[in-house]
Amino acid sequence: MMKYDYLIVGAGLYGAVTARELTAKGRKCLVIDKRSHTGGNIYTENIAGINVHRYGAHIFHTDNKKIWNYVNSLVEFNRYTNSPIANYRGQLYSLPFNMNTFYQMWGCVSPKEARERIERQKAESGIEVPRNLEEQAISLVGKDIYETLIKGYTEKQWGRRCVDLPAFIIKRLPVRFTFDNNYFNDRYQGVPIGGYTSLIDKMLGDTEVHLGTDYFSDRERWDASAEKIVYTGEIDRYFDYRYGRLQYRSLDFQTELLEGEANYQGNAVVNYTDADTPFTRIIEHKHFEFGLQPDTVITKEYPKEWKPGDDPYYPVNDEYNSRLYEKYRTLANEQSRVIFGGRLAEYRYYDMHQVIESALNRVAGL
Ligand code: FAD
Repeated sequence: MMKYDYLIVGAGLYGAVTARELTAKGRKCLVIDKRSHTGGNIYTENIAGINVHRYGAHIFHTDNKKIWNYVNSLVEFNRYTNSPIANYRGQLYSLPFNMNTFYQMWGCVSPKEARERIERQKAESGIEVPRNLEEQAISLVGKDIYETLIKGYTEKQWGRRCVDLPAFIIKRLPVRFTFDNNYFNDRYQGVPIGGYTSLIDKMLGDTEVHLGTDYFSDRERWDASAEKIVYTGEIDRYFDYRYGRLQYRSLDFQTELLEGEANYQGNAVVNYTDADTPFTRIIEHKHFEFGLQPDTVITKEYPKEWKPGDDPYYPVNDEYNSRLYEKYRTLANEQSRVIFGGRLAEYRYYDMHQVIESALNRVAGL
């Protein structure tokens, strides 16, 4: 007799939602995670009374009322609205591109003036069919915005020049002709009061969780422990990299506690859009929860090429990796006892609300 109905590999958001729902259906679950904490990439760690987003800034946003009600039934969310600021060589601009940005950049005070300015720059560029990301961006928003707010940031993010990046990466760019600095268009947005760890704790409830436990350290034992497995780790690893490794972009996070500094930058997210500053953004975590603590914690984000051993953050959605993933997916579909879910097992960028929706849909059929 197997001890558990389900072994869930990964205590991230996908694993936690799955554990909660299966437990509610009366199934006996065991969750294991190789990290020393639950939450996966949404884990928040309390430093000096501030909830620090250890794996990058996370803002919950969704248009889906069902998902919004689901998370709010577990923890309370605040009214945080993501309104990043761009710092280009000491000049500040509002993001996403909107009337505030156009006023800061050109002194335009009406939408008509701003539209004309952008249209003129697009026409001057003479680009008809964009051949790369640079041409695509200029043909969408004109030269000034591209050079000040897109070029340096994108080149740091991808580690390549915009002229060497494919145009499809930016199919659209959000441009608003209203004075609206809200980054997202979704109806619902916020951050859990008390951090994301409180949300995950609620989801995992009384489910048995073993931390610091790598599934691959004793695969046979774990496979024998449950009838079924929900696997949320890297899909290529599951199949021992049979067809080769999937590629990612990674990030280095440098976090500092600034003692006695109550407010470092006045905003949770400040993007550094010039090419010379080596990091892409600075996160000041207290502002996600309107913190008034005497100290502050900031994190600088340095994008980097992923190599084995680094944390895999962003899948690379090019042809090589998409084909490789399809091969692994074919193998995964043959595993009748294993469910592959979440950002690593499905090799796709998922926002939090999408992960929750995907896990709920999957569990509904079990
Ligand atoms: P993960 O959180 O990665 O969880 C997988 C877990 O499996 C991990 O804890 C891992 O340790 C564990 N695991 C893997 N292999 C093994 C193994 N062999 N044995 C045991 N355990 C294993 N989404 C938003 O909605 N808003 C945002 O603002 C936002 N910002 C983001 C910023 C960054 C920098 C990144 C990278 C992502 C961001 N996201 C955001 C996306 C969000 O992080 C994901 O949607 C979510 O974390 C995915 O959850 P998951 O469970 O699929 O994966």
